[in-house]
Amino acid sequence: MNDRVTCTHCNAVLDLVGEEDFRTGGHTGMAGALFAGWNQLDIEILALQMYRCPQCGHVEFFLPGGAT
Ligand SMILES: [Zn+2]
Repeated sequence: MNDRVTCTHCNAVLDLVGEEDFRTGGHTGMAGALFAGWNQLDIEILALQMYRCPQCGHVEFFLPGGAT
C-alpha cells in the first residue's frame, strides 16, 4: 500500500495514527444478553490502520496490507 494516503475531502496527506482493534459480529441488547453463551463465537477482532487528516479531521481506515 502507498504510504502517502491523501484526504478524500481536502487532499492533504493523512497522518497514520496507528492500528485500532474493532470487534465485529456478535449481538447487542436483549438478544445479546439472552444468547451471550454462543454469540461470542461470532465475534472477531479486526485490526484496522487509522489515518487522520491534519487539516479537516477526516478519518479513514484501511486493512493492514490490504488495498493497493
Ligand atoms: Zn482533509
